[in-house]
Amino acid sequence: MMMHYYIFSVLFGLVLGSFMNVLIYRVPRNLSIATPGSSCPKCGKAIRWYCNIPLLSYLFQRGRCVDCGAPISWQYPFVEFMTALIFLCITIRYGADILTVKYCIFAFLILAGAFTDMFTAFDDSFECGVLPHYCTIGGAALGYIFAFWTEPGLIDSFAGSGIGAFSLYIPAYIYYLIRGREGMGDGDPLFMAMAGSFLGVSSIIYLFTVSALFGVFLGLIAVVVKKNREVKIPYAVMIGIASILYLFTGNFI
Ligand SMILES: [Zn+2]
Repeated sequence: MMMHYYIFSVLFGLVLGSFMNVLIYRVPRNLSIATPGSSCPKCGKAIRWYCNIPLLSYLFQRGRCVDCGAPISWQYPFVEFMTALIFLCITIRYGADILTVKYCIFAFLILAGAFTDMFTAFDDSFECGVLPHYCTIGGAALGYIFAFWTEPGLIDSFAGSGIGAFSLYIPAYIYYLIRGREGMGDGDPLFMAMAGSFLGVSSIIYLFTVSALFGVFLGLIAVVVKKNREVKIPYAVMIGIASILYLFTGNFI
Protein backbone atom coordinates (compact mmCIF):
# COMPACT_ATOMS: atom_id res chain seq x y z
CA MET A 1 0.00 0.00 0.00
CA MET A 2 1.67 3.20 -1.17
CA MET A 3 -0.76 5.26 0.92
CA HIS A 4 1.15 4.21 4.06
CA TYR A 5 4.35 5.57 2.55
CA TYR A 6 2.66 8.84 1.65
CA ILE A 7 1.26 9.37 5.16
CA PHE A 8 4.61 8.39 6.68
CA SER A 9 6.52 10.79 4.42
CA VAL A 10 4.24 13.71 5.38
CA LEU A 11 4.58 12.98 9.12
CA PHE A 12 8.33 12.55 8.75
CA GLY A 13 8.51 15.81 6.78
CA LEU A 14 6.62 17.70 9.49
CA VAL A 15 8.87 16.38 12.27
CA LEU A 16 12.08 17.04 10.32
CA GLY A 17 10.73 20.45 9.25
CA SER A 18 10.24 21.27 12.92
CA PHE A 19 13.82 20.19 13.66
CA MET A 20 14.96 22.22 10.64
CA ASN A 21 13.43 25.33 12.24
CA VAL A 22 15.70 24.77 15.25
CA LEU A 23 18.74 24.45 12.96
CA ILE A 24 17.76 27.49 10.86
CA TYR A 25 17.55 29.72 13.92
CA ARG A 26 20.35 28.36 16.10
CA VAL A 27 23.20 27.28 13.80
CA PRO A 28 23.94 30.76 12.32
CA ARG A 29 23.82 32.19 15.88
CA ASN A 30 26.23 29.51 17.18
CA LEU A 31 23.67 28.31 19.74
CA SER A 32 23.41 24.72 20.93
CA ILE A 33 20.80 22.77 18.98
CA ALA A 34 20.14 20.46 21.95
CA THR A 35 19.60 22.76 24.93
CA PRO A 36 17.66 24.68 26.05
CA GLY A 37 14.29 23.59 24.64
CA SER A 38 12.22 25.99 22.56
CA SER A 39 10.82 29.02 24.34
CA CYS A 40 8.79 32.09 23.40
CA PRO A 41 11.18 34.89 22.30
CA LYS A 42 8.84 37.47 23.91
CA CYS A 43 7.91 36.08 27.35
CA GLY A 44 10.63 33.40 27.59
CA LYS A 45 8.22 30.68 28.77
CA ALA A 46 9.18 27.17 27.68
CA ILE A 47 6.94 25.82 24.93
CA ARG A 48 5.00 22.78 26.22
CA TRP A 49 5.21 19.65 24.13
CA TYR A 50 1.55 19.83 23.10
CA CYS A 51 2.09 23.39 21.87
CA ASN A 52 5.06 22.25 19.80
CA ILE A 53 3.26 19.97 17.34
CA PRO A 54 4.30 20.89 13.79
CA LEU A 55 1.78 22.99 11.85
CA LEU A 56 -1.20 22.04 14.08
CA SER A 57 -0.13 24.05 17.14
CA TYR A 58 0.37 27.13 14.98
CA LEU A 59 -3.11 26.75 13.49
CA PHE A 60 -4.88 26.07 16.80
CA GLN A 61 -3.07 28.94 18.55
CA ARG A 62 -3.78 31.16 15.54
CA GLY A 63 -0.11 32.04 15.29
CA ARG A 64 0.21 33.32 18.88
CA CYS A 65 2.05 32.30 22.04
CA VAL A 66 -0.41 30.66 24.49
CA ASP A 67 1.20 32.47 27.44
CA CYS A 68 1.63 36.07 26.32
CA GLY A 69 -0.16 36.24 22.96
CA ALA A 70 2.94 37.43 21.08
CA PRO A 71 2.75 36.61 17.36
CA ILE A 72 4.80 33.58 16.25
CA SER A 73 6.66 33.98 12.96
CA TRP A 74 4.98 32.51 9.86
CA GLN A 75 8.40 31.08 9.01
CA TYR A 76 7.93 28.10 11.37
CA PRO A 77 4.75 26.61 9.86
CA PHE A 78 5.97 27.55 6.36
CA VAL A 79 9.22 25.57 6.75
CA GLU A 80 7.29 22.59 8.18
CA PHE A 81 4.72 22.69 5.40
CA MET A 82 7.31 22.93 2.60
CA THR A 83 9.39 20.07 4.03
CA ALA A 84 6.34 17.80 4.32
CA LEU A 85 5.09 18.75 0.83
CA ILE A 86 8.45 18.10 -0.85
CA PHE A 87 8.95 14.81 1.04
CA LEU A 88 5.51 13.69 -0.17
CA CYS A 89 6.25 14.69 -3.79
CA ILE A 90 9.59 12.81 -3.69
CA THR A 91 7.87 9.69 -2.31
CA ILE A 92 5.20 9.86 -5.04
CA ARG A 93 7.84 10.36 -7.74
CA TYR A 94 10.41 7.72 -6.65
CA GLY A 95 8.26 5.20 -4.73
CA ALA A 96 9.48 2.69 -2.14
CA ASP A 97 13.12 2.97 -3.12
CA ILE A 98 16.50 3.96 -1.69
CA LEU A 99 16.37 7.01 -4.02
CA THR A 100 13.41 8.34 -2.01
CA VAL A 101 15.52 8.24 1.16
CA LYS A 102 18.47 9.80 -0.62
CA TYR A 103 16.46 12.63 -2.19
CA CYS A 104 14.57 13.38 1.04
CA ILE A 105 17.92 13.82 2.81
CA PHE A 106 19.08 15.95 -0.12
CA ALA A 107 15.88 18.04 0.04
CA PHE A 108 16.39 18.52 3.79
CA LEU A 109 19.92 19.90 3.20
CA ILE A 110 18.73 22.08 0.32
CA LEU A 111 15.77 23.52 2.27
CA ALA A 112 17.84 24.06 5.44
CA GLY A 113 20.57 25.86 3.47
CA ALA A 114 18.22 27.97 1.36
CA PHE A 115 16.00 28.99 4.29
CA THR A 116 18.96 29.77 6.55
CA ASP A 117 20.52 31.90 3.81
CA MET A 118 17.23 33.70 3.11
CA PHE A 119 16.23 34.40 6.72
CA THR A 120 19.71 35.57 7.74
CA ALA A 121 20.04 37.73 4.59
CA PHE A 122 16.92 39.68 5.60
CA ASP A 123 17.87 39.81 9.30
CA ASP A 124 19.67 43.05 10.19
CA SER A 125 21.77 41.34 12.86
CA PHE A 126 23.67 39.59 10.03
CA GLU A 127 25.88 41.34 7.51
CA CYS A 128 24.90 38.90 4.80
CA GLY A 129 23.21 35.54 4.38
CA VAL A 130 24.74 32.56 6.19
CA LEU A 131 25.13 29.13 4.58
CA PRO A 132 26.04 26.64 7.32
CA HIS A 133 28.79 24.07 6.67
CA TYR A 134 26.52 21.12 7.42
CA CYS A 135 24.49 22.05 4.30
CA THR A 136 27.53 22.51 2.05
CA ILE A 137 30.66 20.54 2.95
CA GLY A 138 28.87 18.11 5.30
CA GLY A 139 26.10 17.60 2.75
CA ALA A 140 28.58 16.90 -0.05
CA ALA A 141 30.18 14.19 2.12
CA LEU A 142 26.73 12.57 2.49
CA GLY A 143 26.29 12.79 -1.29
CA TYR A 144 29.54 10.84 -1.80
CA ILE A 145 28.43 8.20 0.72
CA PHE A 146 25.13 7.66 -1.11
CA ALA A 147 27.02 7.50 -4.42
CA PHE A 148 28.59 4.22 -3.27
CA TRP A 149 25.35 2.34 -3.86
CA THR A 150 22.99 4.63 -5.81
CA GLU A 151 23.09 6.58 -9.04
CA PRO A 152 24.97 8.63 -10.20
CA GLY A 153 27.98 6.66 -8.85
CA LEU A 154 31.09 7.83 -7.06
CA ILE A 155 33.14 9.30 -9.92
CA ASP A 156 30.12 11.15 -11.28
CA SER A 157 29.37 12.41 -7.78
CA PHE A 158 32.91 13.78 -7.31
CA ALA A 159 32.84 15.35 -10.78
CA GLY A 160 29.40 16.84 -10.09
CA SER A 161 30.60 18.59 -6.95
CA GLY A 162 33.82 19.85 -8.55
CA ILE A 163 32.20 21.17 -11.72
CA GLY A 164 29.24 22.47 -9.69
CA ALA A 165 31.50 24.63 -7.53
CA PHE A 166 33.53 25.72 -10.57
CA SER A 167 30.36 26.75 -12.47
CA LEU A 168 29.65 29.42 -9.85
CA TYR A 169 33.22 30.53 -9.18
CA ILE A 170 33.46 31.75 -12.79
CA PRO A 171 30.43 34.13 -12.78
CA ALA A 172 31.34 35.22 -9.23
CA TYR A 173 34.84 36.10 -10.47
CA ILE A 174 33.51 37.93 -13.57
CA TYR A 175 31.13 39.92 -11.34
CA TYR A 176 34.05 40.76 -9.09
CA LEU A 177 36.13 41.97 -12.06
CA ILE A 178 33.30 44.17 -13.36
CA ARG A 179 31.87 45.61 -10.15
CA GLY A 180 35.02 45.47 -8.01
CA ARG A 181 33.25 43.72 -5.12
CA GLU A 182 31.80 40.34 -4.31
CA GLY A 183 28.30 39.67 -5.61
CA MET A 184 27.94 36.14 -4.39
CA GLY A 185 28.45 34.56 -1.01
CA ASP A 186 31.44 32.27 -0.41
CA GLY A 187 29.07 29.45 0.46
CA ASP A 188 27.10 29.46 -2.81
CA PRO A 189 29.65 27.53 -4.92
CA LEU A 190 29.95 24.99 -2.08
CA PHE A 191 26.16 24.69 -1.98
CA MET A 192 26.21 23.95 -5.71
CA ALA A 193 28.97 21.39 -5.03
CA MET A 194 26.69 19.68 -2.51
CA ALA A 195 23.89 19.51 -5.09
CA GLY A 196 26.35 18.11 -7.66
CA SER A 197 27.51 15.40 -5.25
CA PHE A 198 23.92 14.12 -4.94
CA LEU A 199 22.72 14.66 -8.53
CA GLY A 200 25.86 14.07 -10.59
CA VAL A 201 27.69 16.06 -13.21
CA SER A 202 24.89 15.94 -15.79
CA SER A 203 22.66 18.02 -13.50
CA ILE A 204 24.98 21.03 -13.39
CA ILE A 205 23.95 22.70 -16.66
CA TYR A 206 20.33 22.45 -15.54
CA LEU A 207 21.04 23.75 -12.03
CA PHE A 208 23.24 26.55 -13.33
CA THR A 209 20.74 27.70 -15.98
CA VAL A 210 17.56 27.43 -13.91
CA SER A 211 19.09 29.07 -10.82
CA ALA A 212 20.48 31.92 -12.95
CA LEU A 213 17.10 32.44 -14.67
CA PHE A 214 15.27 32.55 -11.31
CA GLY A 215 17.95 34.89 -9.95
CA VAL A 216 17.59 37.33 -12.86
CA PHE A 217 13.78 37.08 -12.77
CA LEU A 218 13.45 37.68 -9.01
CA GLY A 219 16.19 40.31 -9.17
CA LEU A 220 14.22 42.26 -11.80
CA ILE A 221 11.03 42.00 -9.74
CA ALA A 222 12.88 43.23 -6.66
CA VAL A 223 14.35 46.19 -8.59
CA VAL A 224 10.91 47.13 -9.99
CA VAL A 225 9.03 46.68 -6.69
CA LYS A 226 11.62 48.16 -4.33
CA LYS A 227 13.17 50.56 -6.88
CA ASN A 228 16.53 49.64 -5.44
CA ARG A 229 19.36 48.33 -7.60
CA GLU A 230 21.33 46.94 -4.69
CA VAL A 231 18.78 44.33 -3.64
CA LYS A 232 20.31 41.29 -1.99
CA ILE A 233 19.27 38.07 -3.69
CA PRO A 234 20.27 35.05 -1.57
CA TYR A 235 21.62 32.85 -4.36
CA ALA A 236 21.29 29.66 -2.30
CA VAL A 237 17.52 30.08 -2.66
CA MET A 238 17.87 29.97 -6.48
CA ILE A 239 20.06 26.86 -6.25
CA GLY A 240 17.42 25.39 -3.93
CA ILE A 241 14.55 26.06 -6.33
CA ALA A 242 16.55 24.62 -9.25
CA SER A 243 17.57 21.52 -7.25
CA ILE A 244 14.01 20.70 -6.16
CA LEU A 245 12.69 21.22 -9.71
CA TYR A 246 15.45 18.96 -11.03
CA LEU A 247 14.18 16.07 -8.88
CA PHE A 248 10.89 16.19 -10.77
CA THR A 249 11.78 17.42 -14.26
CA GLY A 250 15.50 16.73 -14.68
CA ASN A 251 15.09 13.31 -16.27
CA PHE A 252 12.84 14.67 -19.01
CA ILE A 253 15.20 17.34 -20.25
ZN1 LIG B 1 5.08 34.18 24.97
